[in-house]
Amino acid sequence: MIHRVTLIPGDGVGPELVEAAVTVLACSGVSLEFELHEAGAAMIEHYGTALPDDVLDSIRGTGVALKGPVTTPVGAGFRSVNVTLRTELGLYANLRPVRSLPGAPCLYPDVDLVIVRENTEDLYTGRERMVDADTAECIKVITRGASERIASFAFEYARAHGRRSVTAVHKANIMKLSDGLFLESVRAVAADYPDVLFQDRIVDNMCLQLVRRPQDYDVLVLPNLYGDIVSDLAAGLVGGLGLAPGANIGPDAAVFEAVHGSAPDIAGSDQVNPAAFLLSAAMMLDHLGEPDAARLVERAVIEVLAEARHTTPDVGGSAGTQEMARAVARRVEELS
Ligand code: NAD
Repeated sequence: MIHRVTLIPGDGVGPELVEAAVTVLACSGVSLEFELHEAGAAMIEHYGTALPDDVLDSIRGTGVALKGPVTTPVGAGFRSVNVTLRTELGLYANLRPVRSLPGAPCLYPDVDLVIVRENTEDLYTGRERMVDADTAECIKVITRGASERIASFAFEYARAHGRRSVTAVHKANIMKLSDGLFLESVRAVAADYPDVLFQDRIVDNMCLQLVRRPQDYDVLVLPNLYGDIVSDLAAGLVGGLGLAPGANIGPDAAVFEAVHGSAPDIAGSDQVNPAAFLLSAAMMLDHLGEPDAARLVERAVIEVLAEARHTTPDVGGSAGTQEMARAVARRVEELS
């Protein structure tokens, strides 16, 4: 069977990562037909938008995309392509597994977390305004529907993957209505899953606990902003952003991308670690119903990292991005 996949290089290090992924996926034994579509600041001149309609149309058609990072200007400028993509396609669940891998410069050897971040509301809806010249306001939106939906996703994931606990992360002691509603909604859903331990943590304490005893936690479910921040913190525990994969999942489509951004400081220098993106591609293979190929790519990435002969500078190596990708591709061929 041929799987059609929308391929979005993005900008910054994105094109280098897509090149690496195409090299590895070509050896996976899975037939993939890519529809290449561009998004990002460079599109504005031609299309008047950073996210042209053909990108969304393609993903609606294929149902699956593999996406490189896209730069979002700070302050003024266009709305985030990532936020728009997630909202337009209803990709409500951001799934980010974080685990210690052999050979990676982990702070802890035994981290195995799954971050489930709500992707469609909270402070990311773009409802911001200047009240007067010296006062800005950003509206935080939390709904029962979206909170219950992400909670159900987290508990279903926990049950399906034999996970022992789900921890809701919030600041309901201060934002009693908004974060209070999030917590209340997750708690209500938890009652339907007596086989999965439910607990909650205030977000500042959660950060402390993750830095001190990450092994005590399993699946975390968070509103959008805390999910964004805690994802990077968790990636730092296991060796950095170069190792943290992710997926944005909705009822009709899924977009697979690494947690990290466009890394402009190393773009074009063949230094970006492709592991996070390749592990995101492995998650995509699982989603496409190709678990054997997914395990193959995953194992090859882990073995190349563990051998540390063809790895990028962020994990202590001296290889380039494409050299590491070729080493993973060779390992995929050897293992298959
Ligand atoms: P970043 O994640 O791009 O980079 C943070 C630091 O980590 C940089 O020093 C970078 O070199 C390093 N890094 C990241 N990924 C790496 C990898 N795979 N290998 C080695 N080193 C890696 O964060 P930033 O600099 O804050 O953001 C840059 C741009 O990316 C911003 O415009 C931001 O909005 C955007 N962004 C996009 C996405 C996305 O497209 N999904 C996600 C996050 C940020």
